[in-house]
Amino acid sequence: MTLGPKPFRRQHTHAMAERFDIVVAGAGHNSLITAAYLARAGYRCVVLEGRPIVGGGVKSAQLTLGGFTHDICSSAHNGIHGNPLLRNDELKLGDYGLEYIYPDPVYHMPFPDGSYLTQWRDLDRTCEEFAKFSKNDGVAYRRMITEYETVRPILNDVAFTPIGFGKPINDRLADHPHGKLWQRRLAMSAWEIIRDTFQDDHCRAFMLGCPYPLQPVQDPMTGRAAYIPLHQQRESRPLPKGGTGALTVALARFNEAHGGMILTNKWIKALIVENGKCTGVECEDGSSYRAEKAVVSTIHIKQLVDMAPRELWGQDFLDGVDTWEAGLTLFETNYATTAPPQYAVAGGTLSPVHSGVMVSADRVLRMSYDYARGSVNLEDPSVHAICCSLADPTRAPKGMHTLKIVGYYPYELKEGPQHWDEIKDQVSDANLNFLRRFSPNLTDDKILARIVKSPLDLERMNPHNWHGSCHAGGSGPSQSGAMRPVPGWAQHRMPIPGLYQTGATTHPGGSVTGGPGRNAATVMLKDFGTSIEEVVKKKA
Ligand SMILES: Cc1cc2nc3c(=O)[nH]c(=O)nc-3n(C[C@H](O)[C@H](O)[C@H](O)COP(=O)(O)OP(=O)(O)OC[C@H]3O[C@@H](n4cnc5c(N)ncnc54)[C@H](O)[C@@H]3O)c2cc1C
Repeated sequence: MTLGPKPFRRQHTHAMAERFDIVVAGAGHNSLITAAYLARAGYRCVVLEGRPIVGGGVKSAQLTLGGFTHDICSSAHNGIHGNPLLRNDELKLGDYGLEYIYPDPVYHMPFPDGSYLTQWRDLDRTCEEFAKFSKNDGVAYRRMITEYETVRPILNDVAFTPIGFGKPINDRLADHPHGKLWQRRLAMSAWEIIRDTFQDDHCRAFMLGCPYPLQPVQDPMTGRAAYIPLHQQRESRPLPKGGTGALTVALARFNEAHGGMILTNKWIKALIVENGKCTGVECEDGSSYRAEKAVVSTIHIKQLVDMAPRELWGQDFLDGVDTWEAGLTLFETNYATTAPPQYAVAGGTLSPVHSGVMVSADRVLRMSYDYARGSVNLEDPSVHAICCSLADPTRAPKGMHTLKIVGYYPYELKEGPQHWDEIKDQVSDANLNFLRRFSPNLTDDKILARIVKSPLDLERMNPHNWHGSCHAGGSGPSQSGAMRPVPGWAQHRMPIPGLYQTGATTHPGGSVTGGPGRNAATVMLKDFGTSIEEVVKKKA
């Protein structure tokens, strides 16, 4: 039996004597990507991770029972497929064990009236699903994807270009025949676009929540989120074979194969600053690591500013960090089961990898209000279920399954975040019981074990999930583009010379895109007198 990617951990005690060009603080997928490009350029990198296993939100482990490989946080790797890292196979991560599976159906959503909408990789088939509810909506879905495909390369380029390194989005849109319309659409809310495009409530609920984009969908400038379902139409919601962690394990192997060193159980507590320049880090275990060229961090900015004297950051930067908001948060339960979810469909049942329930557009809209009020609303809760073992049998013993149920709840409760410890089991039960209304086969005897992670637990598990945020912080206009992480410091160069920042607090933000990782490498390599294009062209 295969147990998925072997968690990547390394202990080392003599590193202090060694010399490194680059010290990398934290080993999420983004910082590992930055390190990988720097290592490819010939720089010797040491990556220091506080947890026993590398990967942060892109990590797999046997959380429940032996033989069940669960994804900790992320499962679907949609965003990274547009990154030149994978799109152009720049680092040949396949040679280090990375392989993707593209589930079909892509997403299934059952509704309380017994109807359902399934997204298939086949566009015609998906349009027919929308047309079941409204002929107009079937046509609208096809029109929407046709229009989106024309602008997708522009949006993609913006995400995978560091701020200030390419033309701003509106200049790029000026070259598009409907650029002005797209300017308007991107400034609208996702809800406005979906409401104006689709007539039927099932279709609207599906478009808003397959899965929920983790931005309040009625907020201005969320227009792009209306197109997320179209993004996954053709390329599905890809899963790394063996577990989400296969990506970070491959990156760690790449780094080691290129002269780098990965050390785990290394919590960083301070930056070393000498003559005004960041030259290394100190760890809680008393060790310290020096960098000849630079330090690159994926430590959350809220914690980073406490790791060097405050006067070194400058007031503007500190103000930007002070006003940083966590954004929306998730709640997850991982189960080991003897059955996958099974939904009733015409002629039988369907067991999809990705499914979710959003009972109506109105319920989705109310989620933002629940977040704002710090309220845990268990009335018809919105849930997202992922059963990776259906497409990837390596994740569980034969005939058994890994199931993750994600709920959408705030970190900041009226009673305070600590209250999560009292209510999390009850909330987890409520989510499962709600899903059972649509998948009645998931009875108690099918559940072998579970592990519950509230938004507070997600922060405890990874301090980069600051205040439970799964994207390190919200991605509204105040924390996007040139404002991420802080206005004036969006180019990954931090106020302390020699210190760079990557990770989800930087452009283009959270999710498994690797965008912050590659963008930081682009900036650093330019500062070192070369370019990412030169490095990629270099013979391995
Ligand atoms: C429940 C959940 C489900 C999700 N599902 C998806 C999904 O399906 N698809 C998707 O695209 N995204 C998903 N996400 C979001 C995604 O996981 C994150 O946005 C992404 O992993 C962030 O990557 P990163 O490299 O920026 O940082 P992280 O993955 O957070 O990595 C940061 C690393 O730095 C380490 N670190 C922090 N501070 C220190 C320190 N002081 N010393 C040493 N090490 C330190 C941490 O331990 C961690 O390993 C999900 C998130 C959650 C919480």
